Amino acid sequence: MRWRMGMMALLCGLLCCSAPGMRAQPPAGDAEAIALAAARRPNSAYTLPPARLAEAVRYSRDRTVLEFAGEGWGMLVLLGLLTTGAAARMRDTAVRASGSRWVQGVLFTGMLLLAMTMLDLPLAIAGHQVSLAYGQSVQMWASWLADRAKSLVLSWMVGSGLVLLLFFVIRRSPKRWWFWFWAPAMLCVVFGVLVAPVVVDPLFNHFEPLAETHPALVEQLERVVRAGGVVIPPERMFLMRASDKVTGLNAYVTGIGASKRVVVWDTTIARATPDEIALIFGHEMGHYALHHIPEGLLFTAVLLLLLFFLGFHAVRWLLARFGRRWRVPAEDDWAALPVLVLVLLLLNFMSEPVENAFSRAEEHAADVYGQEVVHGIVADPRTVGQHSFEVLGAQSLEDPHPNRFVVFWTYSHPPIGERAAFAAAYDPWAPGMQPRYVHRR
Ligand SMILES: [Zn+2]
Repeated sequence: MRWRMGMMALLCGLLCCSAPGMRAQPPAGDAEAIALAAARRPNSAYTLPPARLAEAVRYSRDRTVLEFAGEGWGMLVLLGLLTTGAAARMRDTAVRASGSRWVQGVLFTGMLLLAMTMLDLPLAIAGHQVSLAYGQSVQMWASWLADRAKSLVLSWMVGSGLVLLLFFVIRRSPKRWWFWFWAPAMLCVVFGVLVAPVVVDPLFNHFEPLAETHPALVEQLERVVRAGGVVIPPERMFLMRASDKVTGLNAYVTGIGASKRVVVWDTTIARATPDEIALIFGHEMGHYALHHIPEGLLFTAVLLLLLFFLGFHAVRWLLARFGRRWRVPAEDDWAALPVLVLVLLLLNFMSEPVENAFSRAEEHAADVYGQEVVHGIVADPRTVGQHSFEVLGAQSLEDPHPNRFVVFWTYSHPPIGERAAFAAAYDPWAPGMQPRYVHRR
């Protein structure tokens, strides 16, 4: 599942958590537990030829370095804006420009976002360069820059609204704003998830109804849908033209309520067999059937409340200690915004292992569901499953033996080698075994 809430520049990293979901451990002796145990032993379900393996290891290392460096750099940038007095000067400029707090808030948010985006640019460029060098992206630089400009404008629009609301709440309730801002912030998240597929996504990619160009595939997918007893009408299935920008394969569920939909990338259709697509789709449907979107929202709500509460105390402490030096007198000063964002980025970074553990549990559940739901539609789900993970891993240059700490901290999905081995070993239709989610025989 893709869980993108990039709309919040203000809460940037904070809200970009992967959809989570806790699941009880299966009772010992069931098919899932047996396959899981097999998957966690060293296995050969996903291998790469030597040259490609070396490349995958290098790519994985580059990506990890960039990811951690990016998060650290983002925080350093904010700290720099505060210690150099740049944040205070932006506040002075905004206050001088207008007597209206509305205008000041919009101006200050714009200046802060622009500074953060510009200072982040070298690392962002390095990131895109790495994607190009390893053949993961084919997006031209001009188009890439245009996407970043669009994101900046979008972040400014949405971020300004949130900042104005935040400061309104801080002024009304200086000691309880972390709670009173939480409810409207959550509403914004839900609204974002609702409108993003319809309003935001089309700004960056081209979508068309899947049935228009691939009626046979829609028919095959509808068989899977019926097998799962879920309702996903064909007009909720979309084809995304990803091949203009990336080479990887993907399919995802997104949206909520009226905007809920399944998106299949054209790269997937080009490279995977119909059976493999059915299996990938089965995984996506698992996110639907197992209610991962509402679960993800619930998890985000709890996490957000905790982060706001901790953030409230941390900002108070920081301002009491460094407020004079940074020329940020109080929490309701515009220049306190970068302090709050800094604290939230740090807290979000610290909570990544929890977010990702949730996400990995949900992704695993969706793998189980996917393999069960295509039973009887795809001739040999175990072989097809393992092979589709091999294709997926080879295409996106997944390291077959990722560092355990990196997995723990950054992986939103189980390592692809484990997923492939699980698929190869998972057989709930063997004598004495029970499927976990899909009971129809
Ligand atoms: Zn998934």
